[in-house]
Amino acid sequence: MHHFHYTGHDLHCESVDLAAVAKLYGTPTYVYSAATMEENYRRLQKGLAGLDAQLCYAMKANSNLAILRHFANLGSGFDLVSGGEIRRVLAAGADVKRSVFAGVGKTEAEIKLALENEIFAFHVESEPELARINHVAGTCGVKAPIAIRINPDVDAHTHAKITTGKSDNKFGIPLKHAAAAYEAAVKYPHLTIKGVQMHIGSQLTSVEPFVEAVQKVSPFVAELKKKYGITYFSIGGGMGIVYRDALASGDQAWWDAQPADQRPLTPETYGAALVPLLKPLGLKILLEHGRFMVGNAGVLLARVEHLKRGAGKNFLVVDAAMNDLVRPAMYESFHEIVPLHRDSSRRALTADVVGPICESGDCFAKDRQIQEVGEGEHLGFMSAGAYGYAMASRYNTRGMAAEVLVKGSTFELINARESFEHMVSGERIPAFLK
Ligand SMILES: *Cc1c(COP(=O)(O)O)cnc(C)c1O
Repeated sequence: MHHFHYTGHDLHCESVDLAAVAKLYGTPTYVYSAATMEENYRRLQKGLAGLDAQLCYAMKANSNLAILRHFANLGSGFDLVSGGEIRRVLAAGADVKRSVFAGVGKTEAEIKLALENEIFAFHVESEPELARINHVAGTCGVKAPIAIRINPDVDAHTHAKITTGKSDNKFGIPLKHAAAAYEAAVKYPHLTIKGVQMHIGSQLTSVEPFVEAVQKVSPFVAELKKKYGITYFSIGGGMGIVYRDALASGDQAWWDAQPADQRPLTPETYGAALVPLLKPLGLKILLEHGRFMVGNAGVLLARVEHLKRGAGKNFLVVDAAMNDLVRPAMYESFHEIVPLHRDSSRRALTADVVGPICESGDCFAKDRQIQEVGEGEHLGFMSAGAYGYAMASRYNTRGMAAEVLVKGSTFELINARESFEHMVSGERIPAFLK
């Protein structure tokens, strides 16, 4: 569920008319709903009742400082993947002590920064990484808390680029080699074994792969608790969201109308299936959801530049492009596209919705049915809160989009649209060209 809905003819985020936001700050602009994020966080927490659970929001999904602060205020820690993300947590006034550091290629400088800020644990992906973390901890005169990431070799049934728990991808250590990795870890003088981790993929829409993975690794987790006294088990993130019926899924009625076997994953279903499996382990459970926390809490606003009518094909050219929201070009993903002003007297239009970038991949939707809209009117790309702004680039010298956070009837700019001067501020013409 989420807080984007039509009030009268106009799309609102909570109590804010999105056309007013587009008018004030221009487009393309990302708008996020604070209430939706809070609701996602609380529902997940409630679904896990009975466990000693700690949510570590996977901030790579959306790392705007305001959003980090919002989650920190709710009690969340962070799953972070770079020195830059450590600095973001600090800049947001949040605590690195409740955060975990993931990723296959942490540099010595990043490890040092994490240690200085008393990271909760490193999630280690390989044996050479154990040696590196041990070395850096030694030079800092501390012990580094670690957990090893196990690859449970289950198929998450999601897009190939976002599946991570199969044995043929780069993440984690296969279950059959994990015992040896822990035996290696315990010999390092500057490491403390604190837990165990897994993460099987992203945008999972059924609970079965999560259940399969937990069942598969639980005996090993219990053994680690006995042998090394580990205190936590991180089961990763990956809970999916609704993209296709994004707008409708804001209402409970839509969920109630879905046949039980086709209902997308909810935090309640997720918790109900996993709590009974996890509780007997008697460990703290960490969760690292990113997309679920913010995905349906964001919309990308764009302006229609032209309606280009072709022979047998119409194109809606908008001012947002693949540099602002790369998911359709990168993952062939679907985003529902809705007019900010709904008018039932308009005809329906079938069109490709495209951006202005010189690449045929700059296409948000093919042959999409949409209400007829013309130049100067606005569209909203739903479910754009996760991996939207975070994956944006400046391709075609298009500055980064603006970001706005809504809470109730108030809203504030949380990231100004990037200026040309800012974009080129690090660039220089060398003396030998002058
Ligand atoms: C990306 C990632 C997550 C978050 O994935 P979502 O699908 O956004 O929930 C969690 N843990 C790890 C290790 C990741 O790499």
